[in-house]
Amino acid sequence: MKKTLLLLSLVATPVLAGEGKWTPQQVLELDPAWLRAQGLQLAPQKLWDPKRGTGLLAGTVNVGGCSGAFISSTGLVITNHHCAFGVIQEHSTPERDLITQGFTATERKDELPGKGARVQVPRAFTDVTAQVLAAVPQGADDRARYLAIERKQKELVAGCEKRPATRCQVATFDGGVNFTLVDAVELQDVRLVYAPPRAVGEYGGEEDNWMWPRHTGDFAILRAYSAPDGASAQYSEKNVPYKAEFFFPLATDGVKPGDFVMVLGYPGRTYRALLAEEMAERQARAYPRMRDVYGEAIRIMEEEGDKDPAGKIAVASNLKGLHNVYKNAGGQLAGLKRGHIVEKQREAEAAVEAWARKSGAKWGGALAAREALLAEQQSNAKVFEREFLLGASTRLARGPAMGTTLGRLAAERVKPDLERRPEYMDRELTRIKDRLEREQKNLFVPAEKKLLAAFVKRAQALGPDERIAAVDTHFGATFDAKAVAAKVDAMYAGTQLLTLAERMKMAGESLAQLEARKDPLLAFGLDLAKEQAAMDDAGDRRAGAVLRLRPEWRKAVMAHAGKPVAPDANGTLRVTFAKVQGYAPRDGLVATPQTTLAGMLAKETGEEPFVVPERVSSVAAAKRFGPWVDKKLKDVPVNFLADADTTGGNSGSPTVNGRGQLVGVNFDRVWENVANDFGYNPEVARNVNVDVRYVLWMLDQVENADALLRELGVRKGPPVAGETR
Ligand code: ASP
Repeated sequence: MKKTLLLLSLVATPVLAGEGKWTPQQVLELDPAWLRAQGLQLAPQKLWDPKRGTGLLAGTVNVGGCSGAFISSTGLVITNHHCAFGVIQEHSTPERDLITQGFTATERKDELPGKGARVQVPRAFTDVTAQVLAAVPQGADDRARYLAIERKQKELVAGCEKRPATRCQVATFDGGVNFTLVDAVELQDVRLVYAPPRAVGEYGGEEDNWMWPRHTGDFAILRAYSAPDGASAQYSEKNVPYKAEFFFPLATDGVKPGDFVMVLGYPGRTYRALLAEEMAERQARAYPRMRDVYGEAIRIMEEEGDKDPAGKIAVASNLKGLHNVYKNAGGQLAGLKRGHIVEKQREAEAAVEAWARKSGAKWGGALAAREALLAEQQSNAKVFEREFLLGASTRLARGPAMGTTLGRLAAERVKPDLERRPEYMDRELTRIKDRLEREQKNLFVPAEKKLLAAFVKRAQALGPDERIAAVDTHFGATFDAKAVAAKVDAMYAGTQLLTLAERMKMAGESLAQLEARKDPLLAFGLDLAKEQAAMDDAGDRRAGAVLRLRPEWRKAVMAHAGKPVAPDANGTLRVTFAKVQGYAPRDGLVATPQTTLAGMLAKETGEEPFVVPERVSSVAAAKRFGPWVDKKLKDVPVNFLADADTTGGNSGSPTVNGRGQLVGVNFDRVWENVANDFGYNPEVARNVNVDVRYVLWMLDQVENADALLRELGVRKGPPVAGETR
């Protein structure tokens, strides 16, 4: 008993106020007095009550890899414009271009269903570490270890998903120190309610992405629907708005510098637990290669898209994704260098090592594990170039990428469900088919052909030990621009992969049937699929080694810290506590934490990406601020900064005040903070949020979205006749 108490008081206060993406369970372990001192006015149990398996955190939803939040009891979800982009694109045509114009559903019946759009509402977190680890047979080698763990995870997920409309995952924390079964309700009917014009949602475009000062209205509003009895259901006209038990009311007063905020959401991946040398490897190889390969793809897509308006829409979504990773990779490189992150990690590791040596035999295993991890990393470096390219192929030309998906699907489907790779299990089939269907919107053959030719050229340049056999077989081993172009033309001329109906038929065919089609582009995709499968098998062994080694080392690191250490992001629900504040981006400069409409107008050049749509600029220029003006700024705040510990996946996260009211929507980090994925630096750790008053100003003064504002409880008066929207 005494021991537990001692442990609790030791682990109660984190090292740095802003640092840490805390799990719901950890929030309850943090010192409540410390949380109160930070500014949390709610009892921590209000955020998450493990007994009931719910709390305010259940208002934070996962929106297809992004985050989002319920903002009404009637299923309204706020997220980022860039997270809802797929749905917006889906309903856009050159004649009715919602990407450019934006969209407001004036009535419920106008809301636009998103194919494959889903919202997951968290329900339970269960520690399954003992069960997972017990599944590893005595004496298992690394591959067997990995497969045993994976198998157990699949079984736990299958058991959990027996409940209808449930989506589960077993998440790995701290490299395998802990495994948690995450259980969520999945809502499958999600519709677009409001999207600003792209020039607002993306104001500043790539130039401003990952930057401050910022003036971007990166928000959109969706609505989740359920069957009339409240159960999750596929799209149907009979469905009704989902009744959200927990939601974040809008804080119409917004925030001011110095205010406490928390950002809740689903941060994707961070790498703070990597060894310094593993970080150095990313710095030396992975990010430069991303810049190189994705930079080329971006140039191709832009050039080709510029020649054709329909092509421009088709490439828009992928282009946006690539731009984001491309610039992010640049930010990682700049930040790793500027923050001396690898060096700092080396020092931190040396301190743990010295401490472990002093502690005697107890941590001997941890030290050995670290050495072994270093050796693993060195052997991985040898296969890097080939594996990077094989992996990247899924992001480049859509044709071969779809062929690869079909090949892998067919090869996996013949196995019993629990023996397949997780991505091809039955529970994924609908998603895979949705994706294969949605790809139709992304197809633009001129860009496709150039992307494929560029990929082939790169693969043909690989060293003798790194060949991609599919490329050698279909295109020959040495690059000849004309021959490759001719081959690519022939592949696209002779394929049925790009025809939706045919492709959907292929999705149900066996490998033999697919091969018998003698479709040249598909055949190339099928061959690539085989190599990807082999690469994944090799990856399993490596992952098994890491699962054996990393926890040993991490346990030593955590014991040495003697304070709570928030685990690296892994796509699960987290909370970060922060303050609204500016920062000094570099020597001699101080950035204030808020921007305004006046700043937005001042940035306007009349040329993309700094064009403000007339219906927005006229209201802003006339200073029609409505009630959304900030008294101090004498203007409507557009974006604000806080020192929340966020990463990719936190896009669309609700930023809430100490009372649990929404004050903003997180959408980005500042340039100097991109590399916080590798280490938190309080001086530059700033996330970028849309101020809720900008959201309200847009809806109110610009769009006059009366019904929506009433539903959000910010415009008085009776609801729209006949229904409460
Ligand atoms: N902009 C990011 C995203 O796309 C958010 C971030 O990385 O901070 O998820």
